[in-house]
Amino acid sequence: MLNSRPSEELTKGAIDLVFNFIGWNSSRWDQSRQPYITLANPADLESWFWNNLQPGLTATEEDLAAAKGLREVLYRLSRAHIAGEPFMEDDCSFVNEWAAKPGRLPVLAETGIAWECPSITAALAHIAFLGVHLLGETKHGHLRKCGMCEFLFIDPTGNGHRRWCFKSLCGNRSKVNAFNQRRRVDKEKPDD
Ligand SMILES: [Zn+2]
Repeated sequence: MLNSRPSEELTKGAIDLVFNFIGWNSSRWDQSRQPYITLANPADLESWFWNNLQPGLTATEEDLAAAKGLREVLYRLSRAHIAGEPFMEDDCSFVNEWAAKPGRLPVLAETGIAWECPSITAALAHIAFLGVHLLGETKHGHLRKCGMCEFLFIDPTGNGHRRWCFKSLCGNRSKVNAFNQRRRVDKEKPDD
């Protein structure tokens, strides 16, 4: 659960955006997970933003390197948060610098405020800004890593009841694994 008065920035959509961005590293995934996400070239970055934030952004190799850098720093900060360790100063500075970059514009939309980013740099700054709020406002014990994969999520109770990123995905996989494990044990038992 977030603090009693989370900032206006931390909507569910904003939290999902940051977690999707951090989780977007194929080397951290088991390939059986669908969709299997890669970040190999600038076009992958463009389509990620198309699907997760807004269409029409053009990415360069430089943008790709910046996105990977920001993603890994946010991941490292999240791990520190989960472990209850202080954030590394260099990582804080890196995210703070990104969060301070100009470009994103608040616009009024049907359901309230939305953010428009004219460039990948502005979009990454937007994610860094939300990351600052997410890591800074979430209490220890509420930010967690899935028991099956590397995906992060907020456990609203903070008591560890939620174990999977998505019940329909990793929750089910865990059940299947447990079932197969039981079957193996049963098979190994000698017949009476
Ligand atoms: Zn998972």
